[in-house]
Amino acid sequence: MIDSSKKCILIVEDHLEIVRTLVMNFRARGYLTLAASDAKSAFTLLAEAKPDAMILDLGLPDLDGLDVITQTRSWSNLPILVLSGRTELDKKLSALKSGADDYISKPFDIDELVARVEAVFRRAQKSTSTPLFLLGNWKVDLVKHSISDIQGIQPDLHLTPIEWRLLEYLLTRSGSLVSQRELLQKVWGESYETETNYLRLFISQLRKKIEPVPQLPKFLLTEPGIGYRIIATHLESN
Ligand code: CA
Repeated sequence: MIDSSKKCILIVEDHLEIVRTLVMNFRARGYLTLAASDAKSAFTLLAEAKPDAMILDLGLPDLDGLDVITQTRSWSNLPILVLSGRTELDKKLSALKSGADDYISKPFDIDELVARVEAVFRRAQKSTSTPLFLLGNWKVDLVKHSISDIQGIQPDLHLTPIEWRLLEYLLTRSGSLVSQRELLQKVWGESYETETNYLRLFISQLRKKIEPVPQLPKFLLTEPGIGYRIIATHLESN
């Protein structure tokens, strides 16, 4: 569970109806909210109120949302979730490259948006949390490097070192969208960032091991053209 009681979310959006919906839903879940309708007031609130996360519309009246991400990232690592009506792939990629943590397109489902924000918080909390995850019946222990069947029916899974690094990287960002480029850089190294064939191959190998039906993945999901997202349950304790 995310302790939402003290978390404050800054909503940067010029569409007042959307602001109202977000404020109402996050407050109902125990979050504090702040709202800004342009980039200028967003920067003021970021500096003065120090919110815990920002939900950012890319189409603002005074500045492109991508510039808001770049400027914010020059001094802050707060979680940023981009919200936009723009559907072009290059915009999504640019937002992630500029330092956004995730991206959701309008029209959006409010429950999904809240889940994405909470996933971003979990990711920010990862250093203090337990390294145990559930993928269906598989329990993954990132410290022991073991994957065991909680029902004790199937033998433990064995992964190659690269498969482990890939799974580990995705699990520590459980629920969040991770770009192909980021995975290639972090798992293989800087010089591999365009080797998307490597990534596809290892994702497919991982699916064969962890997914009940590899062709219809339930845990290791593809965001076409952008990256991957793992859906796992983070266990709070052993
Ligand atoms: Ca707008």
